[in-house]
Amino acid sequence: VIVLDILNQRLKENFAQDQFHIEAGDCWVYGYDNSRRHALPNAVIFAQSHDDIVKTVQLCSELNLPLVARGRGSGTTGAAVPIHGGVVLSCERMTKIIEYSPENRYIVVEAGTLNGSVQELVAPQGFFWAPDPTSAPYCTVGGNIACNAAGPRSLKYGATRDNVLGLTAVTGRAETLQCGSYTTKSAAGYDLTRLIIGSEGTLAIVSQAILKLLPKPQKKLTIQIFYRDIETAGQAITNIMSLPITPFGCEFIDANALKMIREHSHPELPKDAQAMLIIEVDGNEESVDFDAQLIKESAALPHLQAFTIAKTVEETNRIWKIRKSLSQALRSLSPHKINEDVVVPVAYIPELLNYTEQLSKQFDIPIVNFGHAGNGNIHVNLLVDPLSPEKGDDAQQALELLFDKVLQLKGCLSGEHGIGIEKSRYLSKQLDANTLKLMQQIKSQFDPQGILNPGKLFEARI
Ligand SMILES: Cc1cc2nc3c(=O)[nH]c(=O)nc-3n(C[C@H](O)[C@H](O)[C@H](O)COP(=O)(O)OP(=O)(O)OC[C@H]3O[C@@H](n4cnc5c(N)ncnc54)[C@H](O)[C@@H]3O)c2cc1C
Repeated sequence: VIVLDILNQRLKENFAQDQFHIEAGDCWVYGYDNSRRHALPNAVIFAQSHDDIVKTVQLCSELNLPLVARGRGSGTTGAAVPIHGGVVLSCERMTKIIEYSPENRYIVVEAGTLNGSVQELVAPQGFFWAPDPTSAPYCTVGGNIACNAAGPRSLKYGATRDNVLGLTAVTGRAETLQCGSYTTKSAAGYDLTRLIIGSEGTLAIVSQAILKLLPKPQKKLTIQIFYRDIETAGQAITNIMSLPITPFGCEFIDANALKMIREHSHPELPKDAQAMLIIEVDGNEESVDFDAQLIKESAALPHLQAFTIAKTVEETNRIWKIRKSLSQALRSLSPHKINEDVVVPVAYIPELLNYTEQLSKQFDIPIVNFGHAGNGNIHVNLLVDPLSPEKGDDAQQALELLFDKVLQLKGCLSGEHGIGIEKSRYLSKQLDANTLKLMQQIKSQFDPQGILNPGKLFEARI
């Protein structure tokens, strides 16, 4: 109580009245994310500048309070949920564009800038920033950095980690850190930019980022393919990824996902289709036709049902509407689910899909698979309420087995959503004890008091 009294006092002394909340009713809405977990923070601070972040870290350090950075709360792993109370530092008001330099192909933005706003800003000069999560219109650059977010086109253009040149951030010691550079080449010391990216707010709070811009290709082609069996779809993905070209996207939807979409909004989808692929290629006029032809040959397998190249923007949009309606369909037809985003090397996708079918039968849990197949990143959705008294234990067991299989297939527990709370207890399955210990020692250097996003990534501190 005394600490909270001091916190309230300090907030009033250091921040404008409209820059913080301390009433529970106001703080409540800053305690959730898309994992649907929730916890009430003691205070919410709305940073408006780098200095506000420094002041907030100093305050939390002095009072030894947990400090959870927050973008727009669209993360799916509970990473932005203040499970130990303390202060939520919202970056939503830090949306300034600091510098836009098309000739140098970078843009410097504050951490609260929306991904979608960056894309809109740079598009008129023919540029884009590669990370393209489906949540782009309502997730922040800071959140993208913290989770190493990615999307369909990361197959060709990389994830956030490959597209940030440098950062300004504040460590748990309240020290300002400027790492990286304004150039695409830099060989000066350790790469702290890449270290902070994916650290889920546990090492430092990002205030600004230098984003690498890429030129928009002249043309893109979208291809839709249906298969009558899932093995053939898996084989087609492997064939396409063996070609000496890189599509910029290769999306996969399984039969259960197609069924949901059909029932929800697209009755026209072929009833006996067991899988749909969306492949996208980009380049110039000639190269996209050449790539599409190669893909057509690789995809022409015995159980091919339909192969369509979208000829107009409307056709492309129609294909993407099917893929995008999946989240909505899942949400309305199965409000409770466990959504995993495991990754395996592409050639092991068929084995992973067979295994999820086996798990589905073994535990009597419907499983829907879709995702960014070109990266081997499959969103495995177990349509079960994890808190259900009847099926909760089965779901946990199925998850354990799924992760074991993924690791046995040389895969990774998360491709883009991160670890957060949801997967922290499984991280030791993937990382050996020495690696985990070293990671925690690095954390101690950045944040000796352990105030930055405690309880995330690691199950327990060493
Ligand atoms: C419908 C939907 C679709 C999605 N699709 C994708 C997808 O295709 N690809 C993908 O990768 N993700 C996807 N996501 C997940 C999510 O949108 C991303 O992880 C996104 O990067 C989170 O951004 P945010 O601003 O909402 O961050 P939040 O959820 O607010 O925070 C996420 C993490 O970032 C930390 N953080 C936030 N700001 C900062 C900062 N300035 N400094 C340090 N740490 C910070 C938080 O502490 C937390 O650990 C999707 C989510 C939804 C709801």
